[in-house]
Amino acid sequence: QRQESADGERSCWICFATDEDNCLAAWVKPCKCRGSTKWVHQSCLYRWVDEKQKGNALRSVSCQQCQTEYIIVFPQMGKVASILEAFDNLVKRVSPFLAAGVLVGSLYWTAVTYGAVTFLQIVGHKKGLALMENGDPLILLIGLPAIPVALVLGRMIRWEDAVIRLIRNRRSVARKFPLMSFIIPYPEEDEEQTAQNPVTPTLSDPVSATRIFCGALLLPTISSIVGRLLFESIENTLHRTLLGGLTFITVKGILKIYLKQQQYTRRKKRRIVDYTEENVRNYVNRAGVRQQQQQQQQHGGGNAAAAQNIQPQQALSQQQQAAAQIRNARES
Ligand SMILES: [Zn+2]
Ligand SMILES: [Zn+2]
Repeated sequence: QRQESADGERSCWICFATDEDNCLAAWVKPCKCRGSTKWVHQSCLYRWVDEKQKGNALRSVSCQQCQTEYIIVFPQMGKVASILEAFDNLVKRVSPFLAAGVLVGSLYWTAVTYGAVTFLQIVGHKKGLALMENGDPLILLIGLPAIPVALVLGRMIRWEDAVIRLIRNRRSVARKFPLMSFIIPYPEEDEEQTAQNPVTPTLSDPVSATRIFCGALLLPTISSIVGRLLFESIENTLHRTLLGGLTFITVKGILKIYLKQQQYTRRKKRRIVDYTEENVRNYVNRAGVRQQQQQQQQHGGGNAAAAQNIQPQQALSQQQQAAAQIRNARES
């Protein structure tokens, strides 16, 4: 990399110029390197150091060859400038912590507000206000923000998955409940595949994380609405909301279990078919025709004649499909 030259002749390892090329430039030997490669122009080295420091004038820079750290000497600044610089550095160092503190603080107060609103919603406005006014402020400051935290943690308990696992693993137990076997069709094969198909999504999935978050924070509102709709006769707001929430969670859980079980069965029964003309017609072209139709509709009514042209073809392909299905049925 660095150019060697005749003894006694200095040559800058950055710009390769020698004394002959530029007799006015100032030289420096800033490191332990020996021979002619120890020499470098002052001005070239400044540019090199600036490039390495990338704006941070205090960052140390070393020779790439011998790893010696360059000795950079700063002249003394005035007293005022030194104080200003010290202050500047202090601000630089403290800012991230301050910003983090503000962020945590605002999160905390958001949680407190959410907790208070939820508390009023669940207990009832008048009663809740009276309770909060008489309550110990310390308990309120800890208890209220704990409400959203508890909701999110509670939402992470996936009891539906536990039920699904129970159903899939202990078919014999679940079969005793006729309602269950109505909701959940049992797969006929053994259950070894369950292990390969984990049903529990984790928090690392950003979509499920936001879903858990939103679901948890909306739960009190939904509970209170369901409670008001279904249990109007109950006077106590707390009891009504709790019943509403319980109903909502149960119904939602059952629907979710049903959907998951259906998807599970579908996935188990999928098959990849042979690439024969018949199958192409049945499964591939069908989607193609639909796409063509949609495109033509998008292009507007001006192309009505073209759209009509497709219909006989479509009718034909439907006939072919029917024929194929009959053939399939006969074979099997
Ligand atoms: Zn140079
Ligand atoms: Zn060196």
